[in-house]
Formats: sequence, structure tokens, C-alpha cells
Amino acid sequence: MGAKRGGGARLQGRRALITGAGSGIGAAVAAMFARHGAAVAGADRDAEAAAQTAGTIAAGGGRAVPITADVSVRREAEACVDGAVAALGGLDIVVNSAGVTPRYAPSDWDYERIWDWVMAVNLKGTYLVSRRAVQAMTGGGAIVNLSSIYGLVGRPMFFGTGDDPYPAGKAGVIGLTRDMANGFGARGIRVNALCPAFVLTPLTRTLTGDPAWRARMEAMQPLGRLGTAEEVAYAALFLASDEASFITGAALPVDGGYTSV
Ligand code: NAP
Repeated sequence: MGAKRGGGARLQGRRALITGAGSGIGAAVAAMFARHGAAVAGADRDAEAAAQTAGTIAAGGGRAVPITADVSVRREAEACVDGAVAALGGLDIVVNSAGVTPRYAPSDWDYERIWDWVMAVNLKGTYLVSRRAVQAMTGGGAIVNLSSIYGLVGRPMFFGTGDDPYPAGKAGVIGLTRDMANGFGARGIRVNALCPAFVLTPLTRTLTGDPAWRARMEAMQPLGRLGTAEEVAYAALFLASDEASFITGAALPVDGGYTSV
């Protein structure tokens, strides 16, 4: 990619695929990237949610197409990237935001099925989409993966059960990020990870909806509050833009100070 910097349209002319674009952080990233001039393909397993994100962007004058795909299924992940390339005329940026939490697993699933599901979406899905994307990024590119503070540090005893695939998957996303950064740097493809702490999205709703839990979560973040999806999207915008042209293989906390304590 060239070295255009600054300005109000920091992704002008760029073509971006965002997974998990139907909700939370992915939806905020899609909207922000479109505001900054990118043409966006917003993918989600929920077709209606993907269409809603694309519709909102289009109504605001941006360019967006919806894609329906389950990123944990190889053929769908590949079709998702191919669909974005076909719709946008190429691909410069990918943000892997599709993710799940074991808290929302069906209650009749056993631990092995929950492990396989969380790993398949959070880790394998990120790999499948990224692997296909680098083949399409012929002119260089930027990939931003959603890891978590729990890819960097362990969970506090009152919160972590020790029986949860989420931290292992998110640590795996950081390993994948570093390996792909090494592997594709020579081709001008940068790969970085974001590590948010607690952000107000549907993913954390069951916890943040409980005032006692919410207070506990806020207290763990030195800024004393939860993050917003838009605050994470700003970090994704930076890493995807040429302003981050010498940054690759990084795992950037977006955590209100959580990991500094
Ligand atoms: P969210 O609001 O639940 O959004 C995630 C989106 O991904 C949802 O639309 C979800 O669809 C979709 N999705 C789930 N499985 C998918 C699959 N197999 N294929 C395609 N799309 C799929 O969650 P979020 O808070 O924005 O989280 C985004 C990412 O940030 C996740 O990777 C998450 O682990 C990470 N993160 C979040 C926080 C936080 O506090 N919110 C903190 C650290 C890291 P459904 O609604 O149908 O499941």
C-alpha cells in the first residue's frame, strides 16, 4: 500500500472486509471505515444483521455490501473473502471481529462441544478468513484480528472458571497474528491484533446487565468504566491505515488500563 497519511478520509480508496459486522465492534468498525472512505463488505452469520449494517452505511452515503457467512466453516469463510473481492474489486483490509463467548453456548452442550465451537469461530475462523485474504491482497494489505485482554493475561479468580476455551482461543489469535505478520511482511501485508477489555456490546450483555457484575468489571479497568465499540473501532482504524505502516505483529491493548495493573 502507498504511504498516504492523515486527512479526514484515512481509508480513501481502500476495500475492507469486516467479519462479525452485524453487531458490536464489527458493526462499529464497518461504519467507521466507511466514514473514512473505505468500501466495505460486512460479513456476519446473521444475514439480517449484515444487511442492516450495510443498509445503515449506504443510507449515510457510504459504500457497503452485506455478506452472509459462518467463518468457522472453510467453504463459507473462503466464499466470504471471494465475495468481498468480487463485490469490491479487490481487497486491502480485513478485520476479523466475528467471535463468540461460551456464556452463550446452549445449556445442553458438554465441555468438548463448547471448546470446539469457541475455537472454531474465534481462532479457526480468523485463520480461514485471513489465509484466503492474503491470497487476494496482491498489492499489500492490513489485517486486524480481535483478540482480548484474556489473550494476554489470566482471568481473576472470581471471573475465570479455569474451564473455558475463550482465553486459549484469544491467545491463539495473538500467535496467529505474529506468525502471519512474519510470514507475509515481505509482501507488504501487516497483521496486528487488538486486545480489548470489557466493552459494551451484545457479547457482554449478560454480565453488564447485572449492576453488581457491571460495577466489578468497571472497577477492574483503571479508567473506571467500560469501553465502547467505537473506541475499539478507532484503534482498528489506526492499525488498518497507513499511519500504522511500520507496525506489524503487535497485540495492542484497548483496555482502559486493565493490563497495566
Ligand atoms: P458481538 O456484538 O456478539 O458481535 C459478534 C458478531 O459476530 C455477531 O454478529 C455474531 O453473530 C457474529 N458471529 C458469531 N459467530 C460467527 C460466525 N461463526 N461467523 C460469522 N459471524 C459470527 O461481539 P463483540 O463484542 O462485538 O465482539 C467482537 C470481537 O471482539 C469478538 O471476537 C470478541 O471476542 C472480541 N472481544 C470483545 C470484547 C467485549 O467486551 N465486547 C472484549 C474483548 C474481545 P451472532 O450474534 O449471531 O452470534
